[in-house]
Amino acid sequence: MRIFISGPSGVGKSTIITEVLKHNPDFVLSISYTTRPPRPREVDGKDYFFTTHEVFEEMKGRNEFLEWARVHGNLYGTSLSWMEKRERQGRHILLDIDVQGVRQAQQKDSPGVYIFILPPSIEELARRLARRGTEDDESFRIRLKNAKSELKSWDIYDYLVVNDDVARTVQDVQSIVSASRCSRTEIIERIPWLREIE
Ligand code: 5GP
Repeated sequence: MRIFISGPSGVGKSTIITEVLKHNPDFVLSISYTTRPPRPREVDGKDYFFTTHEVFEEMKGRNEFLEWARVHGNLYGTSLSWMEKRERQGRHILLDIDVQGVRQAQQKDSPGVYIFILPPSIEELARRLARRGTEDDESFRIRLKNAKSELKSWDIYDYLVVNDDVARTVQDVQSIVSASRCSRTEIIERIPWLREIE
């Protein structure tokens, strides 16, 4: 099962994802390739595979990405082979990708559950982004502008979760994950005899 989680930067996605992963040890977070330079404390191969434009373009040319996108001026992509290897090992995948990536995954008919995390309001999102303080003024402005345009794509998602309280949001996402485990497409993969009843 693939669970896609998007949300504008500053919405609190990474806290939510960390908590959901704690509750679901059979899930693994997809590690994307990116041309963005690492931030302090980010580790290559854990947070991202940090790579050059050249290597990224080569991978793109070989169709190695399920999806890829330019986000805030940097390239990000999901390696199909990385993901399929984990799936063969019986793991479920959680993907933290942006709206453009979700569109591509849907165009390629990737099975999955698509969740969008919303801020309580645009003003609150701006406050959270400002508080984060990892950005200079220009990056802050770009991220806020991008956030607003991302929010306009709410209608391509299966679920919209408003993050006004982290604990409740984690609970809501957890409920979606639990329900998805019982979805018809998921269960039929696990119970082969169901198709074979005479
Ligand atoms: P950051 O640079 O803050 O780690 O991530 C910026 C944005 O890029 C996040 O909104 C995240 O969802 C998105 N992102 C990270 N990896 C991927 C990816 O592989 N594909 C796409 N389309 N977006 C990604």
